[in-house]
Amino acid sequence: GKAIADAIRAELAQSLSESLSSSASSSSTITKPGLAVMLVGNRTDSQTYVRMKQKACADCGMLSFLQEFKDTSTITEDTLLETIHAWNTDPNVHGILIQLPLPPNINEARILSAVLPTKDVDGLHPANVASLFNTATHNTNINNANTNVKLNWKNFESIPFHIPCTPQGCIELLDRSSISIEGKHAVVIGRSNLVGLPVAMLLLHRNATVTIVHSRTTNIESIVRNADIVVAAVGRAHMIQSSWLKLGCAVIDVGINSVEDANSKRGYKLVGDVDYENAKMVAGWITPVPGGVGPMTIAMLLRNTLNSWRRATAAAAAAAATEP
Ligand code: NAD
Repeated sequence: GKAIADAIRAELAQSLSESLSSSASSSSTITKPGLAVMLVGNRTDSQTYVRMKQKACADCGMLSFLQEFKDTSTITEDTLLETIHAWNTDPNVHGILIQLPLPPNINEARILSAVLPTKDVDGLHPANVASLFNTATHNTNINNANTNVKLNWKNFESIPFHIPCTPQGCIELLDRSSISIEGKHAVVIGRSNLVGLPVAMLLLHRNATVTIVHSRTTNIESIVRNADIVVAAVGRAHMIQSSWLKLGCAVIDVGINSVEDANSKRGYKLVGDVDYENAKMVAGWITPVPGGVGPMTIAMLLRNTLNSWRRATAAAAAAAATEP
């Protein structure tokens, strides 16, 4: 994951630098891609993730803007919405990320729905979710049914809406490891809006036969044993045992779980949902935790932000060309 994510980040940085230098000669008002991040509360894990995302933006040549609301006792939804509305209309902001989870007194759905879908680089706005669950085509203009474009699910950059970063990263890992998806039996463990459901949808778009298992599924083990591709997104340390896996299968471990570790200075370490040490003896491919899906999530966030910037820049150029 880390190696593939590093390669993607280098590609994005290169592609952005080329675009900026070619547009420098044709336009006097070029803005760099900008990612606005909202962080509500004091969770140290969220603070770490936000710092990593901001550093990734800087490394890639993008700007990032952070708005923090530390005091959750006084924060209101209206204050958060005001910030989002300002970002929605700010031409320097091309991507908006609301770091989750939000505190329990805040209605997450209301906040996520306020983000302009074209700037929703996390792909969590209902319009982007609906587009992902649509099938082969996407209507780029709701006023004109003739603008349907055929979607090419093998090329995420051509998809005209935002796809959630972690699920997108899972598919990219398979593609860049030359693991074919079409016709394969994929088992997704977990059915959350953030990971399980969208990754299942993406696998389906790539013609896998997909089974989703969850906390109420009986006999998960026997279902996983038939899987060519396993995506684990549960949040339970080492739940998936090597004995559950088919020899040679591909395992994508999305889970991040903190477990006690007396040998670590911090007193804990991060592990996945899969018993990695034993599972790697059975699996053909497997992602570690940390260093697997996590870096891919960040790389996909950069890619979504860059795509958003490209579309905004193209739309601004088209509008300028039609001005009298
Ligand atoms: P979630 O809590 O929203 O969903 C967990 C899912 O697991 C649920 O659908 C539930 O039905 C299922 N589940 C719970 N217990 C189960 C059991 N015993 N057997 C089978 N299924 C069970 O969590 P989420 O947001 O989908 O995240 C899942 C994991 O992935 C977490 O550990 C999270 O930290 C991690 N995560 C990692 C990244 C990354 O970038 N690496 C991104 C997002 C989430």
